Amino acid sequence: MNNNPYSRLFEPVKIGPVVTKNRFYQVPHCCGMGHLRPKAHAAMRETKAKGGWGVVSTEEAEIHPSSDLAPYVEQRIWDKRDIPALRLMTEAVHKHGALAAIELTHSGHNSTNLFSRIPAMSPNAQPVNFLYPKQSRRMSKKDISNFRVWHKRAALNAKEAGFDIVYVYAGHGMSVAQQFILPDMNNRTDEYGGSLENRLRLTRELLEETQEAIGDSCGVAFRFAVDELKGKDGMQFKEEGRAVVELLSEHPDLWDVNVSDWSNDSQTSRFEPNEGYQMPYVEFVKSLTTKPVVGVGRLTSPDLMVKLIDRGALDLIGAARPSIADPYLPNKIKTENTDQIKECIGCNICVSSDNFSVPIRCTQNPTMGEEWRRGWDPEHIKPKLSDQQALVVGSGPAGLECSLQLARRGYQVTLAESKSQLGGRVLFESGLKGLAAWKRVVDNRVHEILQKNNIEIYKESKLTSAHINELEIKNIFIATGSKWRKDGVGRSRRSPIKGIESVKVFTPEEIIQEEQNIKDPVIIYDDEQGYLAGVLADHLSSKGIDVTFVTPASVVSPWTESTLEQKRVQKSLISAGVKIVCNSLIEKIENQTAHLECVFTGAITELSCKSVVMVTERIANTSLYDQLNEQKVSNKPRSIDQNIRLIGDAEAPGLIADAVFSGHLAAQDFEATETDIEKALFMREMPSLND
Ligand code: ADP
Ligand code: SF4
Repeated sequence: MNNNPYSRLFEPVKIGPVVTKNRFYQVPHCCGMGHLRPKAHAAMRETKAKGGWGVVSTEEAEIHPSSDLAPYVEQRIWDKRDIPALRLMTEAVHKHGALAAIELTHSGHNSTNLFSRIPAMSPNAQPVNFLYPKQSRRMSKKDISNFRVWHKRAALNAKEAGFDIVYVYAGHGMSVAQQFILPDMNNRTDEYGGSLENRLRLTRELLEETQEAIGDSCGVAFRFAVDELKGKDGMQFKEEGRAVVELLSEHPDLWDVNVSDWSNDSQTSRFEPNEGYQMPYVEFVKSLTTKPVVGVGRLTSPDLMVKLIDRGALDLIGAARPSIADPYLPNKIKTENTDQIKECIGCNICVSSDNFSVPIRCTQNPTMGEEWRRGWDPEHIKPKLSDQQALVVGSGPAGLECSLQLARRGYQVTLAESKSQLGGRVLFESGLKGLAAWKRVVDNRVHEILQKNNIEIYKESKLTSAHINELEIKNIFIATGSKWRKDGVGRSRRSPIKGIESVKVFTPEEIIQEEQNIKDPVIIYDDEQGYLAGVLADHLSSKGIDVTFVTPASVVSPWTESTLEQKRVQKSLISAGVKIVCNSLIEKIENQTAHLECVFTGAITELSCKSVVMVTERIANTSLYDQLNEQKVSNKPRSIDQNIRLIGDAEAPGLIADAVFSGHLAAQDFEATETDIEKALFMREMPSLND
């Protein structure tokens, strides 16, 4: 370890009365498991502890029913009845020598209380932070003192549940303590409003009371957003952000600092490509306190981590997404296997799952969220059951993942790809503006595949059923992907658009391949309503092409709400001069004129165009699979009876994350009997019938 260039990252750090064994700190992050899925939650956090993280935190933990985050599934520590479920996590984390942290949260007007039906409360009365016509009520003095009692009680319960670090939370615009600090959310005229000293009063009280309650044996962390990235309209790190750190500098045992809101803290690589992007905002904190400081910003590179420690920017390397993409990141650095790190691509699919209230998932790490219910672990997979061979056709995310995991199980794998490069759709998508980091899905896998001696790769090999028969390999995984359709059929219309022959129609891939032949004006017609059409509009307009974005949706790329990007997407299109026509279907095209039909009134407007890019729906490439199955049914003479499985976009087109998952699942299922697969489909946490 002494010769390890990253040994600094493995130094212990004291956090109040507790000591973390190293500088790797998994900061609180949501996971869609929370209080509803405690076993899944404990197993997911345990995997990070196993992977070497020194501190492993929960997500937000509601401290009282007056802060109920439904429909989101977060953690809950309302009373002692929550302790056993939370203890599952602390015990699991402790088994591997890590510390467990809990983020106590009262969300003020950020909670709608849809479950508890208690009126939300916050420093001012104002609309709740959720699309629901409901407002919070202004907290009275009694409410404030009640809140302090609940917070202290939650801290004591957290200690009883086995937590080593307890948070006071003032970040993301999601906590009542932060709402008190921010002047635009606090217009009170009592001792809790007005001057910064007054607006900080509640936070100071929480820090002191938490210290008093559990500070003898637990570290008290303060999570604080030093900047809201709103300029003069919000908290700024050079102004009040700095003043807060000065005023409370020695109060907490640990400063966990970031930028607010969540969309700024968890920026995607599409809009913020730089690793460590929060450093310019948070680096000042260490100069104002003797207490350790943790910060984040998609930190994945061990060289950068060491630099940040050496130059005194941080004491602890904070990570949410890098710990999701690779729970074993610290151990890989410790054993100097840094080339094996699965790097976060900054796509925020993990965030989307929390927004849909389902267990967390990750594009890079298909085992994320499946630790308990499927028994998966990113570094360990069950060994092969026999000496059977497998053929994988297609090297997109599904084919690559399937080949890699079959090889890790010990099977001999043949991977065939019709193109000259491995990667499938990822090669195309990562070539578009802002998506370069997505290439890591291919690079990380190909790197690992090339180190295996049980995968044979055949590029420029477009396989037919005849070729496959000749190969005489029994087990065949068809990962042949999908193609975009050109006729306009999609989410909003199930019949082709009339008259499209009068213009040049491109698929997304074609518009990039044939860029020199594009005649503008171009319409990008987005009836998929995902991310791709918005990326294409940005990409083409950056090349000087005249683009109009037409969509039946009421905003550009509505799916990207779930990845916290929608506002940035629409802003970037507007700034690039892309014309945007929402709430409109293409009804027909005549004489290079698109007839756009309002989705509400049916009124028609006309828009001239020379080219149209259709981003509406994909058709799975199943012809090879169909041929193989046909010959099976017709009992054509073959020397071998094939097992054929369709995976990835060829089975059902979706996200890259879905294709990776599908490839992984197929490799895990390989050689399991139908009954095994059914039994192991996944475990469910059943509601207890105890009141
Ligand atoms: P997925 O997302 O499911 O992995 P992709 O579309 O990314 O799917 O990748 C599918 C890959 O399969 C592409 O790289 C394509 O060139 C390749 N492919 C399609 N048909 C064949 C075939 N018959 N033989 C070999 N490779 C194929
Ligand atoms: Fe990173 Fe995407 Fe995985 Fe989230 S889903 S951890 S952003 S790779």
